[in-house]
Amino acid sequence: MAPSTKNSVILGEALASEEVNLVFPTEDFSRQAHVSSIQKYGEKYGRSVEDPAGFWSDIASEFYWKQKWGQPVYTENLDIRKGKINIEWFKGGKTNICYNCLDRNIKGGNGDKIAIYWEGNEPGHDASLTYNQLLARVCQLANYLKDIGVGKGDPVIIYLPMLMELPIAMLACARIGAIHSVVFAGFSAESIAQRIMDCKPKVVITCNAVRRGPKTIFLKDIVDAALIESAQNGINIDVCLTFENESALKKEMTKWVEGRDIWWQDVVPKYPVTCEVEWVDAEDPLFLLYTSGSTGKPKGVFHTTGGYMVYTATTFKYAFDYKPKDIYWCTADCGWITGHSYVTYGPLLNGATNVVFEGVPNYPDAGRCWDIVDKYKVSIFYTAPTLVRSLMREGDEYVTRYSRKSLRVLGSVGEPINPSAWRWFSNVVGDGRCPISDTWWQTETGGFMITPLPGAWPQKPGSATLPFFGVQPVIVDEKGVELEGECSGYLCVKSSWPSAFRTLYGDHERYQTTYFSAFPGYYFTGDGCNRDKDGYYWLTGRVDDVINVSGHRIGTAEVESALVSHPQCVEAAVVGVEHEVKGQGIYAFVTLAEGVPYSEELRKSLIKVVREKIGAFAAPDKIHWAPGLPKTRSGKIMRRILRKIASKSLDELGDTSTLADPSVVDQLIALADC
Ligand code: ATP
Ligand code: MG
Repeated sequence: MAPSTKNSVILGEALASEEVNLVFPTEDFSRQAHVSSIQKYGEKYGRSVEDPAGFWSDIASEFYWKQKWGQPVYTENLDIRKGKINIEWFKGGKTNICYNCLDRNIKGGNGDKIAIYWEGNEPGHDASLTYNQLLARVCQLANYLKDIGVGKGDPVIIYLPMLMELPIAMLACARIGAIHSVVFAGFSAESIAQRIMDCKPKVVITCNAVRRGPKTIFLKDIVDAALIESAQNGINIDVCLTFENESALKKEMTKWVEGRDIWWQDVVPKYPVTCEVEWVDAEDPLFLLYTSGSTGKPKGVFHTTGGYMVYTATTFKYAFDYKPKDIYWCTADCGWITGHSYVTYGPLLNGATNVVFEGVPNYPDAGRCWDIVDKYKVSIFYTAPTLVRSLMREGDEYVTRYSRKSLRVLGSVGEPINPSAWRWFSNVVGDGRCPISDTWWQTETGGFMITPLPGAWPQKPGSATLPFFGVQPVIVDEKGVELEGECSGYLCVKSSWPSAFRTLYGDHERYQTTYFSAFPGYYFTGDGCNRDKDGYYWLTGRVDDVINVSGHRIGTAEVESALVSHPQCVEAAVVGVEHEVKGQGIYAFVTLAEGVPYSEELRKSLIKVVREKIGAFAAPDKIHWAPGLPKTRSGKIMRRILRKIASKSLDELGDTSTLADPSVVDQLIALADC
């Protein structure tokens, strides 16, 4: 449900208080940027929406196509009233994304450039691959896969941690036209089994174990359990290719099923280091990826090749103002869309040098990220608000003990970033000199949709700012009527962009009803959004999470940001609870800075902050002390569980096994009456 027009004025005031803090890029930065002013953006953006076919064809021509696409450049139907939803870009074009990431860059003179710096869990444990070396590794695996019968259109499940073998496996699949489906290597056996049963892969690629911080996780045992479960359901996997991650676990200690399990190191290195490319149609599938599941059962999001390639490469280049000498590090795991588009494909398509990190940001201590930044001279650092807030909680000393002078651009993704976390990221991590690209997008969108172009316009902490080229966001009211100017409502998109998902795997019906039926004529994102007088977009959280207090519709993000702006609060999650008078009341879970004790006085001052920043109507009715919050494995807060805790419906908590740390739930229940 959308905030009413009346409330948008109130929310507008709340936003206005942020606007005094316009953050301008430095002149030096703007001068060297790909897009140096809002006027230049305006010209390009104008063309991108008036002539999408021409705009994207020009960019697509920079890639290698075995055969050029046909006409029209794209076809779309986003209007369910006119029939089946359908999106196609560059159809008839024959290309290969692996070729464009590797062979094309090597031919362009980048063969000896580092493609991947790999940093292990333990400091000092590292490796690297040049573009030439990466291609050789990819080809060996591609040849092996072909040899065991994997071919064009065959799904392959990859359950690997952040080893170099993870992007290698993705690229090897792409090279031979196989469809990869990466399952984040933190998911349970049951989750893997579900995905195996859904896409019926020929092979599963995994490794024996991984060390994450001080813990060892026995991945192969988890896969074994998943394979037993899927076999019981009639799906048998012929080959489980297992990489020996020696630093985590020795080969001899790994449980083994003879005939099915094969050590990667025993077979793959024997294959030739060149492998012919399978030329695929632009609309042939590239991968299948399940969403993070923060709102319920994960959806099998289906992406195709050509449009995804063109769009991820372009967004990477512009949103991070990427230049060939940059060293880029994205902390996301390849198990999520961010790792697909902005660890593997976007950077490699641009010939970038990429840092891949196996470990966790707080091991051996909370300074690890900045240690890595200094070690590789990282210039673009892309992460999630949850990581920013958790490091902010540990204090500035962990940051300031490192130089970080190589940093040039910072990025954020996954949730709205609270203005106070934004400022800490900008001032402490970025020493006030690095623009922040707060990129709003989704598994479904494939690439950035609303994002700053650093250098082109001033930022407002907490706003993802303006749409990327070719993206036409609209905000609609509950009747689906497009709102103009400053407004507040449901975020939709009105025409297709090249990397839009084409369907949900095996369930086009669910695709149509989930995304195209609520507001006919538009793609509905599921997110609430405000647009301010300057046309900047402010994501307010998922519309399912909107709270209705005495007729005021309040987005979770606004209240959470107000709470986090309190110097002693590092994280907050708010949910609605039934309230006799107001209909719904606001129930806030708050995590305090390290070492700060909870007190009545603090409770009052937290409520006061919300009153001041938003208004009395948004003041929380209850503050619940939360040493930790229930999060998905991609770091997002699962408000569904918090709602149950808040309403004391403890027998309805549902499945908590997909949480990163299920024990926080018990902790919260124990603290309910404090
Ligand atoms: P599910 O759809 O299964 O519930 P999910 O939506 O968490 O999972 P993703 O596709 O990984 O899966 O996340 C996309 C969502 O994350 C967006 O719809 C939005 O709610 C949120 N999001 C991502 N980036 C931003 C951002 N920069 N600002 C605000 N919200 C963001
Ligand atoms: Mg979603």
